[in-house]
Amino acid sequence: MSGNIIDGKQTAAAIREDIKRGTEKLIQERGIQPGLAVVLVGEDPASQVYVRNKEKACVNVGMYSEVHRLPEATTQEKLLTLISQLGSDDRIHGILVQLPLPKHIDEKAVIDAIPPEKDVDGFHPVSVGNMVIGDECYLPCTPAGIIELIKRTGLELAGKHAVVVGRSNIVGKPVALLLLHEHATVSICHSRTPDLAAITTQADVLVVAVGRANMIKREHVKPGAIVIDVGVNRLPDGKLAGDVDFADVKDVAGSITPVPGGVGPMTITMLLKNTLQAASRR
Ligand code: NDP
Repeated sequence: MSGNIIDGKQTAAAIREDIKRGTEKLIQERGIQPGLAVVLVGEDPASQVYVRNKEKACVNVGMYSEVHRLPEATTQEKLLTLISQLGSDDRIHGILVQLPLPKHIDEKAVIDAIPPEKDVDGFHPVSVGNMVIGDECYLPCTPAGIIELIKRTGLELAGKHAVVVGRSNIVGKPVALLLLHEHATVSICHSRTPDLAAITTQADVLVVAVGRANMIKREHVKPGAIVIDVGVNRLPDGKLAGDVDFADVKDVAGSITPVPGGVGPMTITMLLKNTLQAASRR
């Protein structure tokens, strides 16, 4: 199946239908409408687009959505007060603070302030700790979406060699851990890895989360591998590109995610899934 494209949009749409049905059921049977509060501080254009998409996605599956847009100059204290209010608001089951935050705000202090039972982004240290030991928790959305996409290709991950390029706290590390939970043999590469291709060409599953347009070429890929491209890079002409050179790699890969339309749609879908779960647990 050379050159098989993994359609994240289609997969996300199918899962969102299930979430919509789950939401309707929860409203009908228990009178609980899942509610998500998104907090955006400042004017970052990319963040504004992400927040609008999250709001739209919530409404489309029948959830209650609340967006708090705060000015760039908002103090940390004011932000923490808002999070505390949302933490005790019964209509709100999930709280997401859009990152990055302005420089004068301590991101860690803000994430720590989100009650773990409403941490639908999965970034709170309690969520991360539970994920590491394999306990019940809200999984971080992008890594969870990646695992879902891989599973839907029909590949049995157990015993396969998965290579992750990138070791950030939001993508690289958690996705490596989730692959390990699926019993893959996992290698993690980063900027100090001397010979990247020597490792990536061993991968049955290659996940790339670096943030450098088109850096992965066909010589980095084992023929037939599943290639998951997490990167979102804006090119000078305004177009989006992944970290994988799609045109170069698509005929070598067994299957590959496009950018856009691969991992991106899955991220918001997993956020909705976590929010529904949070409301069901209420
Ligand atoms: P970070 O900048 O936090 O991490 C990048 C990682 O790539 C680091 O671990 C870094 O290594 C590694 N790296 C940098 N250069 C190289 C290199 N030459 N060879 C190997 N590894 C390298 O990025 P994020 O993880 O936050 O995001 C990665 C990409 O994914 C971005 O394009 C981002 O926009 C996108 N993204 C997409 C999402 C989606 O929903 N589709 C969600 C989140 C992110 P080191 O640690 O050594 O510095």
